[in-house]
This record gives sequence, C-alpha cells and structure tokens, in this order.
Amino acid sequence: MYRSKMLIDGEFVPSISGKVTTIFNPANGDLVAEVPKGNRKDARVALNAAKRAFPEWAKTNSQRRGEILHEGAKIVRQRAEQIASLLTQEQGKPLKDAKKEVLASAEFFDYYAEEGKRNFGEWIPTQSPNTRSLVIRQPIGVAALITPWNYPVYLLALKMAPALAAGCTFVAKPASGAPMAATELIKAIFDAGTPPGAVNVILGPGSEVGAELIENPISRKISFTGESETGRWILRHTAQHIKRLSLELGGHSPFIVCQDADFEEAAKSCLWRAFSNMGQICVSVNRIYVDQKIFDEFSSILVEQTQKLKIGNGMDPKVDLGPMFNEAQRQKTREHITDAVVKGAKVLCGGDEPKGMEYEKGFFFLPTVLSNVNHSMKIMQEETFGPVAPIMTFKTLDEALRLANDSQYGLAAYLFTKDLSTAIYASEMLEVGGVGVNVNNVMDMQAPFGGWKQSGLGREHSRHALDEFLETKHIRLKL
Ligand code: NAD
Repeated sequence: MYRSKMLIDGEFVPSISGKVTTIFNPANGDLVAEVPKGNRKDARVALNAAKRAFPEWAKTNSQRRGEILHEGAKIVRQRAEQIASLLTQEQGKPLKDAKKEVLASAEFFDYYAEEGKRNFGEWIPTQSPNTRSLVIRQPIGVAALITPWNYPVYLLALKMAPALAAGCTFVAKPASGAPMAATELIKAIFDAGTPPGAVNVILGPGSEVGAELIENPISRKISFTGESETGRWILRHTAQHIKRLSLELGGHSPFIVCQDADFEEAAKSCLWRAFSNMGQICVSVNRIYVDQKIFDEFSSILVEQTQKLKIGNGMDPKVDLGPMFNEAQRQKTREHITDAVVKGAKVLCGGDEPKGMEYEKGFFFLPTVLSNVNHSMKIMQEETFGPVAPIMTFKTLDEALRLANDSQYGLAAYLFTKDLSTAIYASEMLEVGGVGVNVNNVMDMQAPFGGWKQSGLGREHSRHALDEFLETKHIRLKL
C-alpha cells in the first residue's frame, strides 16, 4: 500500500490533525493508499512557507530555474513507470494512457525551462522626448494550483511548469480522490533542486484545504481546473482580494461531420475522443452533429468500432478502457442516458454495465452510442463526464453551427470536412477556445488552450500560460 506525506517547506509531513484519507482502486475496490488529510491549518502553514520562499525564487535567474525544470523532467521520465502505475490504481485509466500522461508532463517541464528565458520586456517610445518607458514582467507571487482527478498529473504539470518558470512559488492541491501520482510529480520537481518552500503539496478536501488557498490573502494567483460550479465559487470568494485567476472549467464539445467529410476517419477520431478516459475529459466529444445524408454510414462505423473496445482493469495491457473514477460519475452517466431514452433517444450500443465477474467490484460502464437525440435532453446540455456519444442529424451547416453554439460551455469543438471554405467559416463561427479541423484534439503544448463562456478564464499551454503567472510593470525614466 502507498503511504505518502505532504510536502511543506521542504519537509515531508503528516497532517497536523493526524487524520488520513484512504484511496481505493476504482477497478476492484482494493485499498491502495493512505494519505494525509489536511485542513485549513495545514494550508496556512504551506502558504506561509511559499511566501517565505518567494523572494529568493523570484530573484533566481531564468537560466537556473530552467536547469531545475529540465532536471525535473529527467526525474519524471526516470520514475514514469512507478508514477503511471499509481495513477492507474487511483484513477482507473489504462496503464499505457497513464504512462503517456506522465511523459507528456515531463515535456511541459522541458518546454517552460526554455520559455521562462523568453520573458521579454519592452522599450517603448514615449509621448515626451525626455522620457523613456521600459516594461518588465515579474512573477505575481504565491500561486495556488488546484486540480481535478481526471488527469491528475498532466493538469498539475501544466500549471507547475509555467508557475516555476515565471518565478512564482506555489502550493498545489491535487484532487482528494486521486492524490498519489500528483504528489509523486511534485516530489520529482523538489528532488530536482527547488529550494524549500518553493513547491508545496497539501492534501485534503477542497471545501477546507482548497477554500483556504482561495481565501487566504497570501495566494496572489489562483490557477484552477475543475467544475464550472467550483469556478463560480472561486470567483465569488476571491473578490475580496481581487486575485489573478485562471479557470479551466467544464466543457460540452460538439463534433460536426459534414457531408463531404471522410466519414470513416471522422468516426474513428470521434470514437477515441468520446470514450478515452471513459469520457471523463473536459474536451471529450459530448454532442455529435452529422449531416443527415451520411448518418447511416457514420453511425454504423462508430457502433462497430465501439463494440470492439476492450474494457477492464487498467493494469491489464490489453485493455482500451478502464473503469469510471467513482460511483457518482457512473450514476450521472446512467441518469443522462435514462433521461435521453425517456425523451425518445435510441441506444445503438452500450447503455449499461458490462456483465461478468471481473466487472463486479469496479465502476465499469459500456461505451454507449445514442441516436434520435435533441436539445431537450440533459445529455445534450449538461456535462455527463461519461462514455456516451449522442448523435443528432442536421440539414445545413448553419443549423449545425447554431446547435453547436447552443451551450453554456465553449471549450472545444471538432469539425470534419474536406472543404477549406467550410473549415474556415465554421471555425470562425464556433464560440469556443479551440477548434479541431479533421483532428480530434485541440491541445498542443505550443498553442493556447482555454475556454470561452462558462468554460473558463485565461489560457494554459504555450507562452500564454507564462503570462498567467506574471504581472506587467511600466518603468518611466526621465533622461
Ligand atoms: P471539482 O471542481 O469538484 O474539483 C476540482 C478541484 O477543486 C479538486 O482538487 C477539489 O478538491 C477542489 N475544490 C473543490 N471545491 C473547492 C473549493 N470550494 N475551493 C477550492 N478548491 C475546491 O472538479 P472535479 O470533479 O475534480 O473535475 C471534473 C471537472 O473538471 C469537470 O467539470 C471537467 O470538465 C473539469 N475539467 C476542466 C478542464 C479544462 O481544462 N477546462 C480539464 C479537466 C477537467
């Protein structure tokens, strides 16, 4: 069984109260870990440690910060197998996907090790001939990094790396239900040579530990990934201290397949984006709009491919899909399917739990394809965060775009077409932070990622993420 401590001020410590949280494997219910259960007091100690460490880390030059981040990347790669195995046991995803997630995180450390060196200023011509204006960008201060359980390692790395590269110190709070791999990620960057107090990890409930990180005036920057509802709470509770916020929130991504698209390619792309990580992805495909003339071809390929996916314990290398993270997620998925069926949806495949001994103790669910859906159904409006692909048909592109934009969310959208004008027109019309044209992923480390509407504020990935941890200062000089 894994036992960890929290990292505060360079020391590995239990919670002040001595309380612990137990973690169970979602594939079979086995007890896998016991971790400290911190509270507001622990969070305050961690924030104070990060505050003490800030001036020194902010002054450390970008070259040295870069060396530490590169070393962190190296250590993460060396420990990838071990971290990935913890990730699969706490979160459920197949080991090969867990390993990909861990290795992708190492890439973020390498990227920001270099990007931190490009924190350029400006020298600006001024209104007066006797003055000069210099603009510099400096680290904000202590950052609180709060992350969810669906990609506990990756989502933390893409906050940690730009925060450290910018010169911020931080207190990280991984999801209470999946803290093991995230803690190991932070240990790796600590072992790479960050000074005591620069990186801290605190474990415990969001309502206590998270709330302290949000409300305490020491944290000057909040970088949060999670539900839109929690994002709204954070907006309200940071108002008093007017904190800088990055909020990566929920999504409900449309996937539009035009008549001229390569529908086989589209169906295969859709399959993976709808079902990988059991649909528990903010940019998962949630609504499929297919031109009515190719509905039969598209849906039959999607159903055929879906039925071939192998479900099981993520530690089995042959498995495509693991269990869902917990019973609450599975129950919400069931509820959304039932609501859709009651309102007229047809289940083309799945819709239930898989049968067999090996599935009895885990939160397994069959990947599901629905047709005959419409926007009165929860599944077309609310974030299911489960393995369901509902298909609706359209007659014109404008109708598809209207349906795609009929959402409170605006994170990602996907479009399959061979026509360049359609691709550009539709990309410009979609109210989202990222559009994937003939591709099922809008994420690239070197390009900005984030949401419109209730999907969030700010951007991650690329140089834009560095900006999120920097303040701008104008220095006006008289000659
Ligand atoms: P959640 O909002 O319940 O929890 C996220 C984190 O916030 C956890 O660490 C939790 O403990 C903490 N938290 C909860 N209440 C808090 C509070 N009052 N103050 C401070 N912290 C608090 O989200 P979740 O269920 O863990 O994650 C799923 C959600 O995350 C989905 O809505 C998904 O779309 C979203 N998500 C978004 C992105 C993105 O990039 N936009 C990426 C992944 C997941």
